[in-house]
Amino acid sequence: MPDEQQLDKCPKCSCGDLFVRRDFPRLLGLAIIVGAVISFLALASNPRTLAAGVWVLVGSAFLVLVVYLTAGWYTVCYRCRAEDHDHPANRIHHGFNRDIARKYPPPLPSNESKTTNHS
Ligand SMILES: [Zn+2]
Repeated sequence: MPDEQQLDKCPKCSCGDLFVRRDFPRLLGLAIIVGAVISFLALASNPRTLAAGVWVLVGSAFLVLVVYLTAGWYTVCYRCRAEDHDHPANRIHHGFNRDIARKYPPPLPSNESKTTNHS
């Protein structure tokens, strides 16, 4: 089976209800913001460099936006919340939908050996 095939059901539980999320690198985004804030505070301490500090903030916000818009997508299963980063996002799947999510009970917290009755 080729890895580039788009998913139409969850590889773990075979559920057909999937949604997509942006694969935004949160640590990178946080590092850019923290670096921008530190740089701004350092530059803002001197009135001559205050404008440069503002431009650092504006440039960093633009950089985070570019990273966000160029990030790929990954697929998440509504039933088991398994994340798939290996296949390209399927165009038939959309963002998280609360109405679809209501069909599935929230997944158990990391203890998969528990048995429960789904009523
Ligand atoms: Zn699943």
